[in-house]
Amino acid sequence: MTVAVYPGSFDPITNGHLDIATRAARLFDKVTIGVYDIPARNLMFNTHDRVELVTQSIAGLPNVEVKPFTGLVVDFARQMGARAIVRGLRAATDFENEFEMAMMNKRLAADCDVVCLMANLKYAFLSASLIREVARLGGDITDLVPAPVAAALKKRNAAGA
Ligand code: ADP
Repeated sequence: MTVAVYPGSFDPITNGHLDIATRAARLFDKVTIGVYDIPARNLMFNTHDRVELVTQSIAGLPNVEVKPFTGLVVDFARQMGARAIVRGLRAATDFENEFEMAMMNKRLAADCDVVCLMANLKYAFLSASLIREVARLGGDITDLVPAPVAAALKKRNAAGA
C-alpha cells in the first residue's frame, strides 16, 4: 500500500489545498493530511478548529484522513507509514522553500521522498493568508474555500467586528 502525508498549517484549508489532496488521493492508496499543531498565537484558527475544518472539507474523499502533528514532518511520515510527503507548488517562491525543506528532509530520512504537485491554475494565486485577509475585509471568498470554511470565516469575522 502506498501511503503519503500532506503536511501544512491549513489556517484555514483552501480549495488550493483541497485540490492537491484530491489529486494526491488518486496517486496514493492513502493520504493523511497533517495539521501542524502549533500555538494559536499567529493563527486564526486553533488546531482543533483547523482539523475540524479539514475533516468537513474531505468528506468526499474516502482515502484521505486528517491528523494533528507536532515535531518533524519526517517523524510524522514514519508514524503514518508514509514514504512520500506531498507538497503543493504555486510559484517560484514556493520552489525555493520547498527545495530547501526537501533537501533537509532527505538528509533526515533517506527513505522518504517529497512529491510536489503543481498548483491548479485556478488556485495558483491562493494562500490561506490572503483568504484570511480578504475575508477579514469583507471580500467574497466563497468560490475559493470549502463551504464549511466560508461559514467559519463569516462567523469569526462577525464575532470580531
Ligand atoms: P499556506 O502556504 O497557504 O499557508 P500551508 O502551510 O498550509 O499553506 O501549505 C501546505 C502546502 O500546501 C504547501 O506545500 C503549500 O505550498 C501548499 N499550498 C498552499 N496553497 C496552495 C494552493 N493554492 N495551491 C497548491 N498548493 C498550495
